[in-house]
Amino acid sequence: MHPDGKHGVDDKKATTGLAEAVVVASNGAGCPKAIFFDLDDTLAASFESPSPEMVGKVLAVLDRMPTSIITGRDFPWMARDFLPQIAGSPHIDRFYVFPEGAAQCLQWNGSDWFELYGESITDAERQVINSAILESVKETGMLEGLPIHGEQLVQKKAMVAFAALGMQVPADLKYSWDPGNVRRTKLRDAIAKKLPAYDVMMGGATSTDVTKKGVNKAYGVRWLSERLGVHPSDMLYVGDALYPGGNDYVVVPSGIVTRATTGPAETLKIIDEVLAACATQT
Ligand SMILES: [Mg+2]
Repeated sequence: MHPDGKHGVDDKKATTGLAEAVVVASNGAGCPKAIFFDLDDTLAASFESPSPEMVGKVLAVLDRMPTSIITGRDFPWMARDFLPQIAGSPHIDRFYVFPEGAAQCLQWNGSDWFELYGESITDAERQVINSAILESVKETGMLEGLPIHGEQLVQKKAMVAFAALGMQVPADLKYSWDPGNVRRTKLRDAIAKKLPAYDVMMGGATSTDVTKKGVNKAYGVRWLSERLGVHPSDMLYVGDALYPGGNDYVVVPSGIVTRATTGPAETLKIIDEVLAACATQT
């Protein structure tokens, strides 16, 4: 949080103070200068861990280029789950983690993860957001008659996520409760109307994410572009929700090259293609 209360997205000071030159390999067709991976339904199934095979592939990509994971998930979970395996890479200095939809960026310094930038919301802001969500649920009647499995309001550092059916929702219900996102669109619109100072976006299969305006994955892409001195058009973004309304779609206007995936199985193939394209370059 900036002392003046602004979130810093349009504040050049937030990035120029951190900018430093990083030498990257020359680019060519098919071999990007840097790569971003979404996590949920790209590197791993929603709310699950990436497989050991996937972690191995990410490490192989990191051997070739700056590599980032950019996700709506929160950092403490990743730090416990699979990041320790990546921290052992000899190229860890070019690995970036953008949790909470790029509200933060972290790097490993050899003994700990440290923040390169970090947005947060205050307790007072949380109260306003929580109330707006709960009122919208009531007004729209969106969840009437549906079973709720566990906590619905998930408090992250810079985001409130509303898991409509609860965090412990069974997998079959998670993907079947709202065909065509009809209920969730109605809820999203109701929340957005109450919170004009925030972005309200559909996240995973059941969730609606509320963040400060402009604190999203596009912010992370632009931030890294500036830090590395690499234009977005020389970088690749791999995600499952690159369609309009999807939570990866916001990166498209940055000019970054995008590659849509249907899930971890296809992502493994995409990574192999990238590695093959880069192997032809020295
Ligand atoms: Mg995803």
